[in-house]
Amino acid sequence: MVVLDGKETSAKIRAELAEQVKALKADGGKVPHLAAILVGEDGASRTYVNAKVRDCEEVGFGSTLIKLPAETTQEGLLKAINKLNNDEDVDGYIVQLPLPKHIDETAVLMAVDPKKDVDGFHPQNVGRMTLGLPTYIPATPMGIVELLRRYEVPTEGKDCVVIGRSHIVGSPMSILLSQHNYPGNCTVTLCHSRTKNLEEICRKADIIVAALGRPGFVTADMVKEGACVIDVGITRVDDASKKSGFRLLGDVDFHAVASKCSFITPVPGGVGPMTRAALMMNTMKVTELGQA
Ligand code: NAP
Repeated sequence: MVVLDGKETSAKIRAELAEQVKALKADGGKVPHLAAILVGEDGASRTYVNAKVRDCEEVGFGSTLIKLPAETTQEGLLKAINKLNNDEDVDGYIVQLPLPKHIDETAVLMAVDPKKDVDGFHPQNVGRMTLGLPTYIPATPMGIVELLRRYEVPTEGKDCVVIGRSHIVGSPMSILLSQHNYPGNCTVTLCHSRTKNLEEICRKADIIVAALGRPGFVTADMVKEGACVIDVGITRVDDASKKSGFRLLGDVDFHAVASKCSFITPVPGGVGPMTRAALMMNTMKVTELGQA
């Protein structure tokens, strides 16, 4: 069994990107500048955004963090987005999700200039991804694909089950793994809360991607010997023994499942760091895709 180490792999990716930035600077090229908009005070969102800013610093990208209060109106947020769309110095940006309930997330994502949409959530970029055209790929599925590629996990002809059909993880994951390239060429089954016989479907899978947000949902009896299991889930549970006051649980019962697997990702240290690395990879692409 091989543990797919997202922490180590993402550190390698950041080091590679830092080299590319150095070369870009030496050639007098523009260093990518990533901005992030954070609305409100959600603790997890703040942690994620701060980590993205730190990643930018490590890689050598420019970065700007725009913090808006939780009471920001939709109009106010759209104005901030419009400003970034027209800011020539900012090559790409993200709007950290989730947004406060009074803001229409779809309207916000539609307002992002597709050329600066490094999260790949704009319908134009989703369409391009679906057609296999060059574009920004949502960071979590892109990070998973990169991890599979770097560990040379076999995917061709494999039966793959993706649990969860969100627009940011499950749905794009199912599209990428069924595409006509590597990693891909899988036969994908996309499962969700209305799926019948989910356990049985999982038992036949060569690859399981669990992205539902239910700690320990995938148990050993649902996993075939030799399967590759990718755990996307991150659920915070209170833990007084931790400095942070919480620990992170994945969607897979790692200890019971790992010994049956050919490959498995841990939580933490698997998909999470790869998601951050993928955002940096997308940001590196801004000069190329921003002109497409
Ligand atoms: P989401 O939008 O809440 O979607 C969850 C999906 O799981 C839905 O499609 C839902 O089905 C399905 N589901 C829920 N309960 C189920 C059940 N009992 N059986 C089968 N399917 C079930 O979540 P998300 O944003 O995709 O995130 C999923 C998990 O990944 C969360 O824990 C999140 O924190 C984590 N995450 C991690 C990263 C990372 O970098 N590691 C990035 C993003 C998200 P319906 O559509 O039928 O409701």
